[in-house]
Amino acid sequence: MPFSLPALPYAKDRLAPHMSAETLEYHHGKHHKAYVDKTNELIVEQGLEGTSLLDVIRTARERGETTLFNQSAQVWNHSFFWQCLAPPEGQPPTGQLAEMIEETFGSTAGLLDSLKAEALSHFSNGWAWLVLEGDQLKITSLHDADTPVAHDGLKPLLTLDVWEHAYYIDHRNVRANFADAVLGNLINWEFVGSNLDGEGEKRADQPG
Ligand code: FE
Repeated sequence: MPFSLPALPYAKDRLAPHMSAETLEYHHGKHHKAYVDKTNELIVEQGLEGTSLLDVIRTARERGETTLFNQSAQVWNHSFFWQCLAPPEGQPPTGQLAEMIEETFGSTAGLLDSLKAEALSHFSNGWAWLVLEGDQLKITSLHDADTPVAHDGLKPLLTLDVWEHAYYIDHRNVRANFADAVLGNLINWEFVGSNLDGEGEKRADQPG
């Protein structure tokens, strides 16, 4: 079966005013969809039909198929990103996640400041990540379509898309305002906490 564009886990207008319905119409409905469509074309050309999304990403990297790697990794990255967001209802980190954040960053605000700094210092397109490395929380960023699921030992917990297509409608060219709006209001901490089981990569996978 071809890969599909996963439905958003909330209505398009539920993240406003921090992320507009128009942004989601473009970012999910056009940018993310284009990655899905292109990946589906390429897996036919490369004989990878019936392969799961994670295996397509890893096979593309092993084979040095850069275009397929970029397109398929972007399908996975966006599928994960949408789940990292939730309507702004003031939900805080809880349980084990809250304890680990306090131990590593002092507070949730400390974590968000570090993630914002990583997002702003990242040159050009890419993704800022909170990952689990061993049993430690770590902030990093990866360029273009690169993704922790293609790196041994990095388990994805939370991501922020810092491609300009993520913010050009709501914030023009100002990445800092986008980072403040999303990190300060829209993080789905329940989803982030669930990924402490190390299985986050499967939550944005698709069977072949
Ligand atoms: Fe994006």
